[in-house]
Amino acid sequence: TIPGSQITVEDLPIRDNLRGKSAYGAPQLKVPVVLNTNENPHPPSQALIDDVAESVREAAAELHRYPDRDAVALRTDLAEYLSKATGIHLTHDNLWAANGSNEILQQLLQAFAGPGRTAMGFVPSYSMHPIISDGTDTTWLPAKRANDFGLDIDYALVEIETQKPDVVFVTSPNNPTGGSTTIEDLRRIVETAPGIVIVDEAYAEFSAQPSAVTLIDEFPAKVVVSRTMSKAFAFAGGRLGYLAASPAIIEAILLVRLPYHLSVVTQAAARAALRHADDTLAGVAAIIAERTRVVAGLKALGYDVIDSDANFVLFGRFADAPASWQRYLDRGVLIRDVGIPGRLRVTIGLAGENDAFLDVSRELAATDL
Ligand code: PMP
Repeated sequence: TIPGSQITVEDLPIRDNLRGKSAYGAPQLKVPVVLNTNENPHPPSQALIDDVAESVREAAAELHRYPDRDAVALRTDLAEYLSKATGIHLTHDNLWAANGSNEILQQLLQAFAGPGRTAMGFVPSYSMHPIISDGTDTTWLPAKRANDFGLDIDYALVEIETQKPDVVFVTSPNNPTGGSTTIEDLRRIVETAPGIVIVDEAYAEFSAQPSAVTLIDEFPAKVVVSRTMSKAFAFAGGRLGYLAASPAIIEAILLVRLPYHLSVVTQAAARAALRHADDTLAGVAAIIAERTRVVAGLKALGYDVIDSDANFVLFGRFADAPASWQRYLDRGVLIRDVGIPGRLRVTIGLAGENDAFLDVSRELAATDL
């Protein structure tokens, strides 16, 4: 027997708001076609692999020392990339980095939310927003999206005005539904919000919409843009998320970050990956072209598909989505049941993977809709 296994989590004195909850986690299954966690399907180039390996080898000579606590070189590289991507000149004082954008979001709630404070999001959206709220003892205030999963701006403004959340999350493009929020709507949200507005732009590189980075100078006390290298940058395994905001907001994050949170290895590998940004991001166009093909394929088969600005698509309507999810899996295709009745989410993969997905979709269209 396993030592200590006579008790369960229910026997522990955990906080009341964590009691009965289950941990986040999409299944990590070894199946032929994995299209369930919105990763970039293109593996890193040999040049990138070699650069990461050499950079980590060099960095390893310093492993007896703590890393640069403030990751200034990496933040400088990120500022350079994001300035180029958005057309807004940013410096390292506008950037902060952490182990994935989940850690970025957690640090933001540690600084700006927490016990006695509230965070609002427009659901269905990224399911970690309420979980990170629970983890930081922030009261989660779910507001609804419209029936087509877009943001109903007038309703959103009323919710913000009446509930006065300390933090508002807007995911754009939204996961798991795929649509974006316009800059005009974002500006109205920021104007109405009493506190911080976190625009989660994890999928921004797949979208033609302008980034909320353009609002930072107008609203330096409110706007935070969260980004990640996990999606377009094909660096999910490297764990590197970042945010752009005013220098004051980054100063606030320094109050809650753990010292040396980004290892020497992580900083070196991320900087190497950034040196290959142009090459990596060239693959984004191929993913968008495949997205167009998958959407057209699904529609031709009679599926209802939500327009997507991201590297995934929400589709249906299934009579029984969990049962259909299992049928995809039984045929070797792992997609995502995000808990929306009648709908499933598929990540855009390589052409062959998308073909396999469409083949199963063709088969199920006859029985499952
Ligand atoms: N935000 C959104 C909207 C996401 O979908 C994800 C990944 N599923 C994340 C943040 C977090 O990703 P990471 O921690 O890998 O940066």
